[in-house]
Amino acid sequence: MNVLLIAIDTLRADHLGCYGYGPATSPQIDQIAGAGVVVEDFIAPHIPTHPGFTTMFTGRDVFDHQIITQGGARELDESIKTLPEILRAHGYFTAAADNLGRWFERGYDVYERFSWDHDPTGAWRKAEAVNNAAFKVLAECDRQDKPWFAFIHYWDPHTPYLPPKPFDRMFYSGDERDPAHTSAVEMMTNYPAFQYYFNEWMPGCRDVEFPRAQYDAEIAYCDTCLSHVLTCLDTMKGAEDTLIVVTSDHGEELDEHEMWFDHHGLYETNLHIPLVLYHPDYFCSGEVKPGLAIHQDLAPTILDAARLETEIEQNQMQGVSLLDPPEGVCSTVGRESVYITECAWMKKHGFRTERYKFFESLYDELHKRPQFELYDLLADPGEQNNIADRSPALVEMFRKQLAEHVAKRLAETGGPNPIEEQHITLTHVGNVDVAVPDNQILEGADEAEN
Ligand SMILES: [Zn+2]
Repeated sequence: MNVLLIAIDTLRADHLGCYGYGPATSPQIDQIAGAGVVVEDFIAPHIPTHPGFTTMFTGRDVFDHQIITQGGARELDESIKTLPEILRAHGYFTAAADNLGRWFERGYDVYERFSWDHDPTGAWRKAEAVNNAAFKVLAECDRQDKPWFAFIHYWDPHTPYLPPKPFDRMFYSGDERDPAHTSAVEMMTNYPAFQYYFNEWMPGCRDVEFPRAQYDAEIAYCDTCLSHVLTCLDTMKGAEDTLIVVTSDHGEELDEHEMWFDHHGLYETNLHIPLVLYHPDYFCSGEVKPGLAIHQDLAPTILDAARLETEIEQNQMQGVSLLDPPEGVCSTVGRESVYITECAWMKKHGFRTERYKFFESLYDELHKRPQFELYDLLADPGEQNNIADRSPALVEMFRKQLAEHVAKRLAETGGPNPIEEQHITLTHVGNVDVAVPDNQILEGADEAEN
């Protein structure tokens, strides 16, 4: 069995058709979902990019792998094996079209990098640059006489949202600079961490619906480019025995909590990401898999499908396989809660359960939000009503659980607590050329004092 792992950076679940979104952002992904399984409640417990992908590729949490910040000094310990390293040791040919570098390069026979193409209109044709690398990677895979694992990493829904034509006006037809608009004025003029960056790539914008629409346009552009990769897959030998995975490392805040167009804050906008799985033998067709699933489940799922389930325990992975039983019944994920962290722009940690989200701030943070936030996700899925003040018993319960969980994991791992030991790495974004991709320490980013 082959594995094609497609990650679209910064992609929130609720802006895809297969997760109920109205505008037609994702016909190609929806088609894969229609033939396979949509994991309804898939959560990125550790955001943003570096901790997200490390958790995905190791099946382990931040206490184990210690990668909790973005672009920090710490490297992944050599003793912790990543998914491509494990698959390669079992005879897989492994290849990636990616630019994360560092420990994300480990375990690949071919690691094809890319850089962004700009077109004369100022649009960024990121997905096409990724596809050029992806086609080389898939051609190498097709030359092998053994199973292959290919990882393709798109970046289009990440700022700056500068989609090429015809996507650029697909979801917005007005004039974003019309003085009658006022909804974007605050973020464009009074948001020191980002306002200069925003003014670089959407100068004069006064309507917050414009960048919202451009985020969707980037998804649609990426989805179209993805269809070319899947057409290429169809021509390859063994295509029918390929597990296709579509997912992301974290989502994106648009304008829900005045943390505009970035991926900090432990809200569902950032934590709820897509997971679409397709293989005719291992997943039900057209089903939605309920239950709380997390990044740590991805590597166990792939290893289980590759008949390498002993590697899950051997590598101390904390996730579970999401494969459906052979009887053709769509299984449920039976997890009650997950520990969540952010340590890039702010220091926060907490718990996400099926019903509640609780988190506490451990640092004097960027947005002056309260120290404790508690949301009832059933009554308030948009997380607009912080009920921490009027639910002291629940806050106490979650704080106790949090302290117990941290103490337990520290005892189990014998390592330091990464959120206490490591500093936040991001305090402001630079210009459009250094802010993307976000896989490097941003130029001029200060290391904050803890
Ligand atoms: Zn990312």
